[in-house]
Amino acid sequence: MISGAIDLGGTKIEARLFDGMMQTVAVKRVSTPREDFASFLAALVEQIRWLEATGENASLPIAISIAGLIDPKTGIATASNIPVSGHNLGLALRESLGRGLPMVNDCMAFAYSEAHGGAAEGADSVLGLVLGTGVGAGFVIEGRIPPRHAGLAVEIGHLGMPARALERHRLPIWTCGCGRIACNENYTSGTGLRRIAEWAGLADPEPQSVASRASADAESARVMQIWADLTGEMIYSAQLMLDPQVIVLGGGLSNIPRLPEMLSEAIGKLRLGQVRLPDIRVALHGDSSGARGAALMAKAGMA
Ligand SMILES: [Zn+2]
Repeated sequence: MISGAIDLGGTKIEARLFDGMMQTVAVKRVSTPREDFASFLAALVEQIRWLEATGENASLPIAISIAGLIDPKTGIATASNIPVSGHNLGLALRESLGRGLPMVNDCMAFAYSEAHGGAAEGADSVLGLVLGTGVGAGFVIEGRIPPRHAGLAVEIGHLGMPARALERHRLPIWTCGCGRIACNENYTSGTGLRRIAEWAGLADPEPQSVASRASADAESARVMQIWADLTGEMIYSAQLMLDPQVIVLGGGLSNIPRLPEMLSEAIGKLRLGQVRLPDIRVALHGDSSGARGAALMAKAGMA
């Protein structure tokens, strides 16, 4: 069955059409209108119409993967980089399209994709951890996204980094975009890694260059070691709460060479007694994994 997905983010609205084998057959990207809800909605509806036309099916299964939260009871959206906060996006789409489309948080869609034909195929519980500009995560148990009370994903990026970890490296306390201080993502995201590199005085603090220099340059290696230790602390928190069988890494930082080994080593040092550790793997479906997860959910008829 052909299906489609919208990957809805702060910079682009991407429409992606999949064939019956979940291979991408067409993609169309437009910039996300940031000025107001009306122009944003018009651009989104146009992308959905393009999917229906290209898929030659007016009732093509389509779901929306959104970099934000939708309250499951009220339908009200909350997003920091898309002009939808306070709006009922589902209702607005239903009025424009004449049908409702399922919507899912992008990190949840990512975890769902990797649990179904991805890096965590066959695992009972999967944490999809996206290390990008920020940090987000999604959770799948026995192939399903657990019911959400408020529409939250696994908001691990905004849990606090343990004081013990910051103290270990004498790192400063940084303020987060959410208004609190010392959130995990201030240290473990791509932005966080750059900030640690700047704090350590590296001339080129770009995350990918720090990572690639680490094999030859001691200062870069030290920065990567600190970042991996802090990311290990964050993963350890997730393990204590969710005890996932597999953790799948996505986002820009997931390209860092030997990342699963580095992070496994980091959580190994924190482990509680001989408690079994989760298996850490890199995503199989890359940047399109969230869209793929949403399309799979659309096909399964999941809201
Ligand atoms: Zn925060």
